[in-house]
Amino acid sequence: MADTLKLVKKISRLAKGKKHLRLMEVCGTHTVAIFRSGIRQILPENVELVSGPGCPVCVTDDDFIDKAIAYARKKNFIVATFGDMLKVPGTRSSLARESAAGARIKVVYSPLDCIELAKENPRKSVIFLAVGFETTAPTQAATILAARDQGVKNLFMLSAQKLVPPALKFLLNDESTKVDGFLLPGHVAVVIGADAFNFLADDFKIPSAVSGFEADEILTALVSLLEQIDTGQPTVANDYKSVVTNEGNLTAKKILAQVYEVTDAVWRGMGEIPASGLKLRDEFAAFDIERVEPVEIERIEKKSACRCGEVLRGLVKPTDCPLFGKACKPLHAIGACMVSVEGVCAAWFKYGSGKFNF
Ligand code: SF4
Repeated sequence: MADTLKLVKKISRLAKGKKHLRLMEVCGTHTVAIFRSGIRQILPENVELVSGPGCPVCVTDDDFIDKAIAYARKKNFIVATFGDMLKVPGTRSSLARESAAGARIKVVYSPLDCIELAKENPRKSVIFLAVGFETTAPTQAATILAARDQGVKNLFMLSAQKLVPPALKFLLNDESTKVDGFLLPGHVAVVIGADAFNFLADDFKIPSAVSGFEADEILTALVSLLEQIDTGQPTVANDYKSVVTNEGNLTAKKILAQVYEVTDAVWRGMGEIPASGLKLRDEFAAFDIERVEPVEIERIEKKSACRCGEVLRGLVKPTDCPLFGKACKPLHAIGACMVSVEGVCAAWFKYGSGKFNF
C-alpha cells in the first residue's frame, strides 16, 4: 500500500503542469485490471486513459463471424470456439443463435481440446475459430503440429489471428489518433519481446511501457510513461521484467514462424491493415478450412449506430455511443465491444466511469 501511494503521488507530481495527456492501454486485460483496481479514478484530471484495439473478440470483423456461421450451418461440421465468441453479432446472426437453432457449436478452453474432439468425431470436420493475438497464437500453432504428428485429418482452423505492433503503427499513422503514450500488453510482449515495440520510440517518438496486470505494475508503467513525457526522451520501458525479455520467447517465436506466415488482416473499425495477421504456411494448407472447403458469404452493409470501431481506436468513449447501457448491454450486445469480458464497452458498463479527485 505504501508503494502504491508513492506511485500515485509520483504520477501526480509528474503530471502537474502538463497538458491534457491521453495514454492508451492497448489491451483489454489492462482495461479490466485498471477498472477493477480503481486506477482510472485516482489519476490526475489531466491524465486520461483511453482503451485501444487489444481485445481479440472486439476486433474480429463481421465477415469472420459470418463465415463461422456458414460453416456451422453445414452438415457434418462442428465449430469449436472460445465461449466469448458465441454472442458476437455477425451481419444477421450469431453463433449463439445458430447453436440454439441446432448447429453443432462446441465451446472449448484450449485449441488443443479440438484434437480430442476431432478424434471423437471422425466423420465430422472440426473447425477451430483461431482468434487472438501473439499471446494465443503459439498454442494454436502447437495444436496444428500435434494434429499433424498424430495424423488427425479432420481438424481445421478458420483463422483471424492478429499482430499488435502493426495495429499500433496504423493508429499512429492515422492523424485522428491523439495518443501521448502506450501502456503495452505484457502477455504479448512475453512472446514477441519488448524490442518488438522499439519502432514506437525510433519511428514515432512516442513513449511506451510494457506493463504487468497488477495495480502496482500498471502504476509503475504509468510513472515510466510520464517520466518519458517529462524528459522528452521516448523509449520502450520494460516494466514487466519478471517475465518479459527484450527478445521474447524464442521457442514460441520459432513455432509461430514454422507454422504461420504474416499476412494482411481486416480489423473491426480499422479495415485492412498490412502485415497485421497470420495465415498457415502452404505446407499446413490441409488444416486451413478456407483453402480446403471455402464458403461464400453474402456481403451485407450493416446499418447500426454502434461506435465500436471508434471506441477501439480510442477516438470516443463507450459512453459517447447512443446505445450504451440502453439498447446495448452485456446480455443484449449490439456490438462486439459489449460481448467479451475484456471488451471496452462491457468493462465500462460493468465498472462504471466514476471519477474522484485524490
Ligand atoms: S455500447 Fe454497444 S453499440 Fe455502442 S459502441 Fe459499444 S458495443 Fe457498439
